[in-house]
Amino acid sequence: MNYKLETIQCNICGADDTHKVTDKGQHSLPLNVVLCKACGLGYLNPRWDADGYLDFYKNQYDNYYRPDIKKEKKVSTKENPILSRLKERNLLGTDVKHILDIGSGAGDNLLDLGKAFPEAKLNAIEPSQESQVILKKNGIQVLSDDVNSNWDEALTDKFGVIIMRHVLEHFLDPLLALKRIRETLSDTGILYIAVPNNLNPIQSLEKSWFRVVHTYYFNKYSLANILRLAGLEEIEIVEGDRHNNGEVFLMARRSKEIVKPNISQDHYTEQRAVFERVQKEQSSLVYGLKNKISKVKRRFF
Ligand SMILES: [Zn+2]
Repeated sequence: MNYKLETIQCNICGADDTHKVTDKGQHSLPLNVVLCKACGLGYLNPRWDADGYLDFYKNQYDNYYRPDIKKEKKVSTKENPILSRLKERNLLGTDVKHILDIGSGAGDNLLDLGKAFPEAKLNAIEPSQESQVILKKNGIQVLSDDVNSNWDEALTDKFGVIIMRHVLEHFLDPLLALKRIRETLSDTGILYIAVPNNLNPIQSLEKSWFRVVHTYYFNKYSLANILRLAGLEEIEIVEGDRHNNGEVFLMARRSKEIVKPNISQDHYTEQRAVFERVQKEQSSLVYGLKNKISKVKRRFF
């Protein structure tokens, strides 16, 4: 993977003044995690360019992250976290006719949502070729393999629900993508986004949390800001629940008025302190030992 590198500015505030967090990440793939000193957004810089990422997602991603994709799946009886989070908040509208899942994978979440809206048409944007085969087999329309393409131009229907589960942190230009997505949301439509919560990283930073495919590292502050910049209005931003303690998720709708983002160095200070505390904890001997013991346990019990 000798992809070309590119350097970028902060996607939220446009600044180019960063603190380097680490160059160590999952699978020993080289990366550069930085924090914007002006607003606290985490991102990779420099990073692979768009061609590099597109190639990685088409040809490598499933090998690294979805090795079981070809196996027949057992039907899951567990409640779907997206569905129950929306239901608990009375955010499942009644007249949803079109649903879009961006970064749908093989479509498990779409099919679960489809059960709540049997009449709704299910749509996906998904780069993986293998996932696309499964999506089509299940009657799901694949709009595009690339969220940065002009998939929205030919659309006539607006979406009542758009879900983006652990995808925003993979985008090359999340703000631009959200602006485009906003235009495809119906007036009463709900946008659901979930990403890893960088104010509560629950895995090894070096072995799992920092990834070459995670181009952005969000928290509740940067999510609130990017929504505002994209013309979206948060309904609720939630840091962790019984389904997943290490993610932050939100529900948003189209906003009617422009609200300025809240750019603050305090957000940078807070995010940097969390990374430094966790780095220190995880470099300790006790953490290393605990990790080894739990690995051995998993193997034998
Ligand atoms: Zn910034």
